[in-house]
Amino acid sequence: METSDYSTKKKKVGIPRALHFYRYFPFWKKLLEELDVELILSPPTNKKIVEEGVTHGFGELCIPVKIYYGQVLKLVQDHPDLDYIFVPRYVAEVKEAYFCPKFISLPDIIKILPEVPKILNFEVNVKEFPIATSAIELGKELGRTQNQSLNAYREAQKYFDEYHKFLREGAPVNHALRLVERNRPFTLPKKKHKGDLKFLLLGHGYNIFDTFINLDFQKKLHDQGVEVLTIENLPESIFKVPVIINKRLRNYWRHEEEILAAIRYFLTKGRDEIDGVIFLISFACGPDSLISELIMRDMKVVGLPFLEITMDEHSGEAGMITRIEAFVEMARRKKKKLELDSKKTSAVKTL
Ligand code: SF4
Repeated sequence: METSDYSTKKKKVGIPRALHFYRYFPFWKKLLEELDVELILSPPTNKKIVEEGVTHGFGELCIPVKIYYGQVLKLVQDHPDLDYIFVPRYVAEVKEAYFCPKFISLPDIIKILPEVPKILNFEVNVKEFPIATSAIELGKELGRTQNQSLNAYREAQKYFDEYHKFLREGAPVNHALRLVERNRPFTLPKKKHKGDLKFLLLGHGYNIFDTFINLDFQKKLHDQGVEVLTIENLPESIFKVPVIINKRLRNYWRHEEEILAAIRYFLTKGRDEIDGVIFLISFACGPDSLISELIMRDMKVVGLPFLEITMDEHSGEAGMITRIEAFVEMARRKKKKLELDSKKTSAVKTL
């Protein structure tokens, strides 16, 4: 019979608010709380955190990883009594694709930072073993039995499924994450941003939902009368069929696969559902720069306005606003012209 080893004092586990926080936090939170630990979350990104991260990250590193460094250091400074810092290793979540190498090596690069407490790992690599196995390993490190860990894993998965359902109902990710953080039920925001244009905003969660590093990009679009859709809001069926780039080539990056699947939908069936696409990418991101070429080519073919914005720690507010305004204006003119052309065509047909 398995034995339980619950100690009276809960272990303190720090979670950096960066990288896959924007994608997996609801799952991690449920899993770790079910394993009876106390969670400490680092604060939203700010100037000081970015500066710290840039100081510790070497030059060509992408800004999201530099922010991760900064967030880890902030946790360590503010909470010297942490027992662990949670740094999961994401290798492969599906058999067909990998995560970017930065995720694969994350625990190794974080453990060499100064004063970092013990790393609490959680490895996701379904090419080698099921995720439940990692949950058991995680539980073992925290002194939990196999049954306790498996129950925690099931509860976390159930909660994560509910979270995804909520996003597909149209909940903005930042709103949903706030509810998770505050242990509130999933309710849609009272005020929905309406606009005469609808854009698909593409990019990694840490680029499009970290409002400090993207200079509150979504708010700038809302201010211009644009409704924003992100891939988290799209139906699950869009992502079920693998993307074939050409007869021989398949993309093998996990998140880029999702971006390409979303684009495939809007190039075909969903063409009339949006008025433009914006892709936010990080400077020095290999996977994104590869697919942005493909997306740009496809957008030209279907005539959908497309804007790519590259961000780094030096991105400036004024330049960003100018580019958004110009793009919104162009998309609005294009939409009006299309509506006019379609009216003329129907008038000719009725003659
Ligand atoms: S996918 Fe790009 S932005 Fe994300 S961690 Fe990898 S290199 Fe950085």
